[in-house]
Amino acid sequence: MEESECTPFALCLLQNDFAFRGLEQLGFERFGWVSYASQTRISKFVDYLQEGKIYGTKCKECGCVQFPPRAHCVRCLSSSFEWKELAGDCVLITYTKVEAAPSMFKEQAPYLLGLAELPEGPKVFAWIDKTVPEDRINIGMKLKLNPTKLANGNLCYALTLPNATSLDKRQV
Ligand SMILES: [Zn+2]
Repeated sequence: MEESECTPFALCLLQNDFAFRGLEQLGFERFGWVSYASQTRISKFVDYLQEGKIYGTKCKECGCVQFPPRAHCVRCLSSSFEWKELAGDCVLITYTKVEAAPSMFKEQAPYLLGLAELPEGPKVFAWIDKTVPEDRINIGMKLKLNPTKLANGNLCYALTLPNATSLDKRQV
């Protein structure tokens, strides 16, 4: 099976291909609300989420740490990487409340999305978990990037309060 890091169009074709062939779960189809590819070079990311761990990738050429993980470095384009566990501690840079959601996320609206910076370098764009009281959200507050389970049973990650436990079933 070919690895996939395709355009969304190509990924849709890939998804259909898997559906027709009835393949077993291979990795990424367990991620998020809509997963287009079941297997990529970074599928292990989903296994780590299942274990309650947040992993990014670290480029073996230039050392750039990336989250979400990428098989190809955004800085030097090298395809040589290693896995790096991230503590998940982060600081909120900005956030927004989505009232008019795209159709695939209508059931979740309204919801909050945040941009947070990890100490290892990456900035992560993620759901702000509904366990974070909206009136406590401030730019610069400490949050934690945690694995989470969606209502559909799939895995994802979300910004939680620093003391939250991971993999609780959340309402994102
Ligand atoms: Zn690099």
